[in-house]
Amino acid sequence: MEYVLTVNALSKRYRRFPALSGLNMRVPKGAIYGLVGKNGAGKTTLIRVVCGLQEPTEGDYTLYGVHNREREILDTRKRLGAVVESPAIYLDMTAEENLKEQYRILGLPSFDQIPELLKLVGLADTGKKKARQFSLGMKQRLGIAIALCGDPDFLILDEPANGLDPQGIIEIRELILKLNRERQITVLISSHILDELSRLATHYGFIHNGHMVQEISAKELIAACRKSVILKVSDVEAASLVLIDAGLEYEIVSEGSGTRADDSETTVSRRMAAAQGSVAVYGEVAISELVLSLAEANCQVLSMENRDESLESYYINLVGGEHNE
Ligand code: ATP
Repeated sequence: MEYVLTVNALSKRYRRFPALSGLNMRVPKGAIYGLVGKNGAGKTTLIRVVCGLQEPTEGDYTLYGVHNREREILDTRKRLGAVVESPAIYLDMTAEENLKEQYRILGLPSFDQIPELLKLVGLADTGKKKARQFSLGMKQRLGIAIALCGDPDFLILDEPANGLDPQGIIEIRELILKLNRERQITVLISSHILDELSRLATHYGFIHNGHMVQEISAKELIAACRKSVILKVSDVEAASLVLIDAGLEYEIVSEGSGTRADDSETTVSRRMAAAQGSVAVYGEVAISELVLSLAEANCQVLSMENRDESLESYYINLVGGEHNE
């Protein structure tokens, strides 16, 4: 897999306070990567370091394969657009004037792309209105438009939904999805609200007290949270055949060591090693019928557990208690 950003054992201390401690992270190309953590977890610090606004105390990172201590990193950073903390906009300027100013700062010769950029973020009709009169959502979208000047292919947004009303949140979400799908921009978004990110993220990094607790793809997270029955069985292979036969969706969660079957057994499969293990069975399951079928296949059910976890409870279990909203 190709990674836009890799962070290796990164630490950042403010005096003696460790805001980041040995943090590792990998953002795949084309992903919408949700960086999830409580207030004070270290999200903004990490983003500031990656954007080159702060130096790491220890560790390093690469952007598009370029190491942060190589000279080439300055040019590579031009591929990166970011809105860190609050959007950097001039309040006494219109949306168009703000973008022109950013073009000048970046030394871009032509303003031709500006009307399209304003349209993309839904600010094409704001005319002479100064940014001061914009809603919070409009300001946030203008901040994103500024970050998009120079055509970056990696966009970093620090808590873009913070303080927005539901409509504003939907608009930002749709914009991020559009940028990712239509312009193939890789996006890193930080948030303390997992539920909001779950509508768009393809990958997650859970950060807590300056540590990366877990990186997981959206697919893996959904699978981990889907309603299922976990069966610990004496013979995973036999259980698989029964589950396929019953037309049930399942996944082998863990496979233990094989136990030698009794020599007196006659069937071929019984003469092979029977491995204990756990299978997750998804959907509506008629338990008694399934247990009977398994017994007929000489497969014992050793234990059974229902699993139905929400994303939020998965996260809370991971980082422990008092999750703030
Ligand atoms: P929030 O969403 O509240 O901004 P965050 O996850 O972005 O949280 P950071 O802003 O990175 O967290 O802060 C991580 C920790 O580092 C916090 O405990 C914060 O108080 C501390 N911190 C951040 N900046 C500084 C600084 N300049 N000097 C000292 N401590 C700081």
